[in-house]
Amino acid sequence: MAMKRAAALLLLLAAPLLAQTTPLTQLPYTPSLDVPSMDKSVEPCVDFYQYACGGWMKNNPIPPDQASWSVYGKVADENARFLWGVLEEDAKPGADRTPVQQKIGDYFHACMDTAAIESLGAAPLKPLLGEIDALKSKGQLARFLGREHQRTYGSGWLFGFGATQDYNDATQVIAEADAGGLGMPDRDYYVNGSARSKELRAKYLAHVQKMLELADESKAKAKSDAAAVMRIETALAKASLSRVERRNPYNLNHKMTVAALAKLTPSFEWKAYLVESGVVSKVQTLNVTQPKFYKALEQVLKHEPMPAIKAYLRWHAVHARAPYLSNAFVSEDFDFYRKTLRGVKEMPPRWKQCVRYVDRDLGEALGQEFVRRTFTPETKAKTVDMTRRIETAMEDEIKSLDWMTDATKKRALEKLHAVANKVGYPERWRDYSALAVKRDDFAGNAARATVFESRRELDKIGKPVDRGEWGMTPPTVNAYYNPQMNDINFPAGVLQPPLYDPKLDDAPNYGNTGSTIGHELTHAFDDEGRQFDAQGNLKDWWTPADAKAFEERVQCVRDQYADYTIVDDIKINSKLTSGEDVADLGGTLLAYVAWKAADPNDTQEIDGFTPDQRFFIGFAQWACENQREENLRANAITNPHSPGKYRINGIVSDLPQFQRAFKCGESAPMVRKKACKVW
Ligand SMILES: [Zn+2]
Repeated sequence: MAMKRAAALLLLLAAPLLAQTTPLTQLPYTPSLDVPSMDKSVEPCVDFYQYACGGWMKNNPIPPDQASWSVYGKVADENARFLWGVLEEDAKPGADRTPVQQKIGDYFHACMDTAAIESLGAAPLKPLLGEIDALKSKGQLARFLGREHQRTYGSGWLFGFGATQDYNDATQVIAEADAGGLGMPDRDYYVNGSARSKELRAKYLAHVQKMLELADESKAKAKSDAAAVMRIETALAKASLSRVERRNPYNLNHKMTVAALAKLTPSFEWKAYLVESGVVSKVQTLNVTQPKFYKALEQVLKHEPMPAIKAYLRWHAVHARAPYLSNAFVSEDFDFYRKTLRGVKEMPPRWKQCVRYVDRDLGEALGQEFVRRTFTPETKAKTVDMTRRIETAMEDEIKSLDWMTDATKKRALEKLHAVANKVGYPERWRDYSALAVKRDDFAGNAARATVFESRRELDKIGKPVDRGEWGMTPPTVNAYYNPQMNDINFPAGVLQPPLYDPKLDDAPNYGNTGSTIGHELTHAFDDEGRQFDAQGNLKDWWTPADAKAFEERVQCVRDQYADYTIVDDIKINSKLTSGEDVADLGGTLLAYVAWKAADPNDTQEIDGFTPDQRFFIGFAQWACENQREENLRANAITNPHSPGKYRINGIVSDLPQFQRAFKCGESAPMVRKKACKVW
């Protein structure tokens, strides 16, 4: 492993650096079954991942600005390079730009103007630091946070607040107060006793200190402020649920009145907070995801002196604004979050960062440009058809399950039939016309865009749910299932070669994109998703015996994955990954069954592979990847997905269809004696 990594690092000096200096005028083509990406020196029944992906791993070293490199990551990078060209065009002032082109073009232009950004230094931060300095009492804190939470939506200083779908009534949007307030990616970083975690905490302290120094604090003051930050965040982290605990939605469902919340945190003026948030008339009750967290917040507010709380606020102010300030801030931010935590060697080029910000802040405007150029009606029709066929396969599978009673089957089919399929892009594009974008004000654009998004979210409170909304932008190379919406979502960005390949036959397409569709569909019935009903309400529709039979089958998958090593001596936390592992297992089988029904007579060998072999090679090749060790360690804590190798080898070793395709003997490593099957 170490030898391979060293070889890969040498190679990367040559190719990828040069390749990224110009935009792409069209998206490159790689087939969704790529023979040179294989390593045929390995037996498929011994290590199928190496067999299908060995060539890819060798030929695709991790670029210096990436924490990992994968088939998905590479497509995302190519999409970004393509959008770079689009945005350069849109950035040119001229009368013939559409309002959408003008908005994203001007945003991109301001972001690329590093000379202007540099000359401002820390200036865009100063008004906010002034507001924090002016806070005289904890009473003023609530009003300040009510304003600031809108300017940093989602990042949650001290706690998180926003709009959410009601667990108990999926038709309604309500307010939600969530845990939050941490600067590191997970509570685990604060409480884990390992030597590596202690080392990271020391580095985090140093980072907080440096950032405060950049914001003009003296070294001594920045140091004591950093200690106060760590004390406050650790208290919040200790009271926060773990990622595994948060996978159980019942742990997060605590609807209460504002008065009841105020009893948990009497030192915080909730009324003033809601007034400043502009929602006071709409919020009589709200969901408090973690009541225990709000009791801990009370202790922080009661016992921490005002200067310590102001130090905490200053840190989060610098932290939140750093990406929009001069290079000193941007590189210190990169240094901790990307280099130390993820092992990334170099900062991404400016254009790549700017494309990402446009996608984040104006995603459905940029998405219109992307879809128009890359996503054909033919691809949409074909992938919609594939989705329907996979749903039919799931229907047949449910009907034939031997461990589920008819009563539960009936409810499962109701839920399956209610799943909404969203393919490519939203039916209605988001309207950004009220958002002011200026050609010479990057920090201001980012700030206004955040407030625009906060208002859009907060204004939903008290209204019916918009079922047409998307949680990912069209160029995104990813897909998701949302249990409260009961919908599966496939952005245009993920429906392109080598993931979906209109030039190839069905076998590798069903193996690759078909398995992804099956994966998202199976999420409706994984250990988390199964707890929601057809409408998206958190409501138990299982008989106790069926629930028990299901849990036994999921436990088989948990036991299987708990044995796999991620890096060092860190094993997969399969209580965290079991939803994804179950979705991988069910999704691949569903894609296989749907493909067999679509092409029952396909016997043609191509490149020496039977159709069944092509299905499974296509399946494996979505997951080819190289990972930095630091990134693997961070993923072990935060990522609910298993590493690519086990998302392939773990699955095929449970599937007799694979073992027949490659004629694996009984004792082959890719044949598990106790195979798991849920769906
Ligand atoms: Zn998933």
